[in-house]
Amino acid sequence: MAQMLDATKVPVNRPNSPVRWQRAKERADTGGVQVFCVGGDPRVWAVTSASCPGAAYIVEIRPDAAPTCQCKAATKKNDPICVHRAAVLHRLGMLPIVHAMPVNVVPLGVVGAMAAD
Ligand SMILES: [Zn+2]
Repeated sequence: MAQMLDATKVPVNRPNSPVRWQRAKERADTGGVQVFCVGGDPRVWAVTSASCPGAAYIVEIRPDAAPTCQCKAATKKNDPICVHRAAVLHRLGMLPIVHAMPVNVVPLGVVGAMAAD
């Protein structure tokens, strides 16, 4: 049974943010993580490890709570995000969409106008 996520214990340096979900999904892609529905139940998934060949973790999708995973990031570090959950949520079309946020794109004229206000 996957450990329940306790939101009060989420480390401050591991926020539940769309950007971190996107990065986790990218790590799942580059790590060759594979996702398998277990027994035809769309709430239970087996997800292969990105770092440990031959290993897999169970991810449970729950309608009333955050998804759970058996991996170390979820159970030991209490991280609300891991590559396994990101891979499953992406498969289900439930991953938060993150649009690239360019840096320093504000034209200087706009900055000048803003400063004049
Ligand atoms: Zn995991």
